[in-house]
Amino acid sequence: MAYARTAAPAVDECAWCGHRLGGDAEHRPGRIRCARCGVATTSPWPSDEQLAEAYAVWYRPSAGRFSGVGDAVLKRTRSALANRLHRVLPPGPVLDVGAGDGTLVEAFRRHGREAVGVDPYASGASPHVRAVELEEMTGGWSAVIFWHSLEHLRRPVQALRHAADLVVPGGVLVVAVPNAASLQARLFGGRWLALDLPRHLVHIGAPALLSQLEALGFRVERVSYLRGGQVLFGWLHGFVGRLPGHPDLYDTIRRNEARQATQSPAFRLYALAAAAAALPLSLVGTAIEVATRSGGTIYVEARREPKTS
Ligand SMILES: [Zn+2]
Repeated sequence: MAYARTAAPAVDECAWCGHRLGGDAEHRPGRIRCARCGVATTSPWPSDEQLAEAYAVWYRPSAGRFSGVGDAVLKRTRSALANRLHRVLPPGPVLDVGAGDGTLVEAFRRHGREAVGVDPYASGASPHVRAVELEEMTGGWSAVIFWHSLEHLRRPVQALRHAADLVVPGGVLVVAVPNAASLQARLFGGRWLALDLPRHLVHIGAPALLSQLEALGFRVERVSYLRGGQVLFGWLHGFVGRLPGHPDLYDTIRRNEARQATQSPAFRLYALAAAAAALPLSLVGTAIEVATRSGGTIYVEARREPKTS
């Protein structure tokens, strides 16, 4: 990865709240945690060139990211999300921010609901995903969805503010992000799956996210520490990564052309066997996280107050 952590000066301002990261900030490898809002900002702050490199073709090839059942599972979980949201949303179009290949957008459209995605790195696979920034979008939407995209944005709070303006009264903001305050984040530290430097620019916990949504005039209706996905996988990835050779399980399950580094068949087998062995303990970890509301991801549905007459 071309992202050098030492070549650039440390970031000096919190990307979430704008607070100056001075002596009260907590320095961790690859990020600095703000004393005011608790959100950590990736440091050094990657350049546009470094991010372009980090999103190069291997990250999301048009043939799909994962081998075998992986992409099918991904499609089914997006489908389940669309089914659920279709029931709780008022009529009207849906906007998916960071829509990728448009899997979620297509799932909404199968319900007969208008849906559009935006993604500056759009693969072009879906005609309903536009390669533009969120800030270029206007109009009234029954939902704006950030499915694991908010943490990729340089100005996440400004993006939430713009999204809030796009949501009609009674409509919903949906946000799923990695939970930087989760048990697995603390346990696996610099090797945690969802740290994902330098693509993840902010590292958010639930309090900062929920209070921001409320400050925008939204009522938080649902918070889940499981629905955001990747909770069990985060544990598996973390345990496997601790073994000799530090196998990257996320890379192991990707297609050859979607892998950061080549892995020999023997090394892949080793990683997969380790994952199978780590499954029972990972299930326990997941259960503890869900029970203590500290899961590896945060999923929030927040509704804009309907107009009262
Ligand atoms: Zn802050």
